[in-house]
Amino acid sequence: MNQQYPSILLEKAVGEFAKLPGIGRKTAMRLVLHLLRQDTATVEAFGNAIITLKREVKYCKVCHNISDTDICQICSNPSRDASVVCVVENIRDVMAVEATQQFKGLYHVLGGVISPMDGIGPSDLQIESLVHRVEEGEVKEVVLALSSTMEGDTTNFYIFRKLAKTNVKMSVIARGISIGDELEYTDEVTLGRSIVNRTPFTGNI
Ligand SMILES: [Zn+2]
Repeated sequence: MNQQYPSILLEKAVGEFAKLPGIGRKTAMRLVLHLLRQDTATVEAFGNAIITLKREVKYCKVCHNISDTDICQICSNPSRDASVVCVVENIRDVMAVEATQQFKGLYHVLGGVISPMDGIGPSDLQIESLVHRVEEGEVKEVVLALSSTMEGDTTNFYIFRKLAKTNVKMSVIARGISIGDELEYTDEVTLGRSIVNRTPFTGNI
């Protein structure tokens, strides 16, 4: 079905929005028409926020969280416990765990999980840098807080094997969360409890 657009500019803008996850062409059209109704300054602020974000955003050199500085606010906060590192899949998970206010350690953002189906192997993730962090000696406990999916379990096990020789204590968040649930969809109370009640990780899948 070839929809007719009265303007190539409109079609182009709709096409860009429709590339976003969860946005179909109908929604894209609605968003574009909404923006078109705003004044120029508002639309420029919208466009500039995204361009500036992409150009200037940094990733923390320690934990790989999104940051405005080389070392993020969490890693550079002296009141956080640098001996405990919570391993999460992505930046949204850092935000989810932070929202529970139950975790005072630091993070390590992997940037995904091992997923052969999607062509994501260990070298595509921040696993080596985690190993280096642990080898430096300050980290005493690694808390695995990945989704309880097959990919999450595979990644947990891979990290467990990589860190086995360091003798760091390894734990996994408690699974009040049902299998297959993703971290970011878990409510704060449940997720907070899962972190507090974490259990030793034994390497059993
Ligand atoms: Zn950081």
